[in-house]
Amino acid sequence: MSKRSKQTNLVHGGTKRSQWNEVSEAIFLTQGFVYDTAEDAEARFIKTGEDEYIYARYGNPTVAMFEERMALLEGAEDGFACASGMAAVNGALMSLLKAGDHIVSARALFGSCLYIAEEILTRYGVDVTFVDGADLAQWQAAVRPDTKAVFFESMSNPTLELVDIAGVAEIAHQVGAKVIVDNVFSTPIYSKAFEQGADVVVYSTTKHVDGQGRCLGGVILGTKEHIRGVVEPYMKHTGGSMSPFNAWVQLKGMETLSLRVKAQTASAGALAAALEGHDKLTRVIFPGAASHPQHDLAMRQLGAGGTMLAFEIAGGKEAAFRFLNALEVAIISNNLGDAKTIATHPATTTHQRLTPEQRAQLGIGDGLIRFSVGIEDSDDLIDDVLQALAAV
Ligand SMILES: *Cc1c(COP(=O)(O)O)cnc(C)c1O
Repeated sequence: MSKRSKQTNLVHGGTKRSQWNEVSEAIFLTQGFVYDTAEDAEARFIKTGEDEYIYARYGNPTVAMFEERMALLEGAEDGFACASGMAAVNGALMSLLKAGDHIVSARALFGSCLYIAEEILTRYGVDVTFVDGADLAQWQAAVRPDTKAVFFESMSNPTLELVDIAGVAEIAHQVGAKVIVDNVFSTPIYSKAFEQGADVVVYSTTKHVDGQGRCLGGVILGTKEHIRGVVEPYMKHTGGSMSPFNAWVQLKGMETLSLRVKAQTASAGALAAALEGHDKLTRVIFPGAASHPQHDLAMRQLGAGGTMLAFEIAGGKEAAFRFLNALEVAIISNNLGDAKTIATHPATTTHQRLTPEQRAQLGIGDGLIRFSVGIEDSDDLIDDVLQALAAV
């Protein structure tokens, strides 16, 4: 199975059929499992074998299909499916760390990831050093012999700054630290994170994997030893496991994942090109464009620009709101990776909690718009953005 291409695995990978031999993956919407005898129950609690289950918090056949398909897609040995992206980020970090450990984290983090790094880990005695993720010299200066892990988003939200996975991994591995990557913006379609040195890769599958705005999910990917030995005991006892229903929705989402992400990327590129140099914009950020300061790294690391772009409208919040309110195709929301194009004003929504100084440090101006490009006709999207800019 693993020798097949990503696209084939997205359709067939991990499929397990019941005695009915159904075409579409079955939803095993069950909390538990029946044992034929008391001896069978005892034996299964002593050692749970392949394709044997005890309780849905520990594992479930539909969830197992999702985990196997995600692991095949990413080129990981194994994966643990989680209730949300945040359950995955929390599980990846908390399952590994203990009081007295040190980690180094990029500063540009999704709000809830920042909360875990800044508030929760420190509360439990983990020492956290924040660095500018794009600056390898800062990673080099921050790692110590007792650094247990490094953590970063490979492409940051919302300013689409990349972290060089191979470069950070080389630095982290010098001191034996594990490299934990939140890879949402890079997408599992373009990711080669394990080849580039990541030890653990985390996704919010709420984003591109579901891709149709239906349900939350997350996954932690890594070696079999790490996932079953470190991650699973933490997750199954603390309750962050994925529901079988959500696993089923997202398994079906994976069948079309690559088609959607590639179409979204093409439209994002077309939109970025149409906006480059527009007189109402002070900058356009798209990693697939030669104007992006890390374009070469984006091409080396991902081979594509991704499905997201951002642009700064001259005139601050007032101009940004006028633009958003004039959009007719794109919707105003805060998810990303969706089939529907979504426009977000980070300064007043996703990054509202930060102080103006913190936002300035991350390059989040009052005129900045984050654009998650969907699968609508790209000419319609370009027309929509241009007419909304004309209204500014
Ligand atoms: C959305 C997101 C998360 C959190 O995922 P949820 O599914 O919303 O819990 C974590 N990291 C990044 C980069 C995200 O975009």
